[in-house]
Amino acid sequence: MDRKKLEQGNEAFITKMKEIRPDFFDELKKGQTPDYFVLACSDSRSDPDTIFSALPGTMFVHRNVANQVVHDDESLTIGLYYAMRVLHVKALLILGHTGCGGVMAARQGLANEFLDPWLDHVKENIQGVDQLNADDNQFVRQNIRNQLVNLKDHPVYRDIGKGIPIVGALFHLETGQIEWID
Ligand SMILES: [Zn+2]
Repeated sequence: MDRKKLEQGNEAFITKMKEIRPDFFDELKKGQTPDYFVLACSDSRSDPDTIFSALPGTMFVHRNVANQVVHDDESLTIGLYYAMRVLHVKALLILGHTGCGGVMAARQGLANEFLDPWLDHVKENIQGVDQLNADDNQFVRQNIRNQLVNLKDHPVYRDIGKGIPIVGALFHLETGQIEWID
């Protein structure tokens, strides 16, 4: 592990934050009031804070492969509950991205004992797309659309989500732009 590189990155972060706002870390330690709960793919290229130029404290983020809303995923459940009930986020965002390896693996029907349980969720969420004629982005869009439905149907959202909007977004790796998905 290249500790030096990580340390240099951390120092650069501290310097930049202090330049932007001298009291930044004093504010951070007081607590968090993020505007958004974000469910994003784990892919290293689609970090929500980075692509939205958001400072720490803006987004409460949960990430997994192919941004799946799985109702019995305890980690998602507690994050969602905490974000809505305690932090009072203003919106929930599902963030997918082009070239999603999780979606492509599900599309291709990869079979592997370690991957199958999760890919089965992804497979369910890309059903209905024309396997022969659709391009990869159509599968990614379909996955995001279904996550919007799954999130609206999540027990926590049904219980305490009234009035909190859910929005979908597709991050285009090739341009950096966001496409809203309804
Ligand atoms: Zn992905």
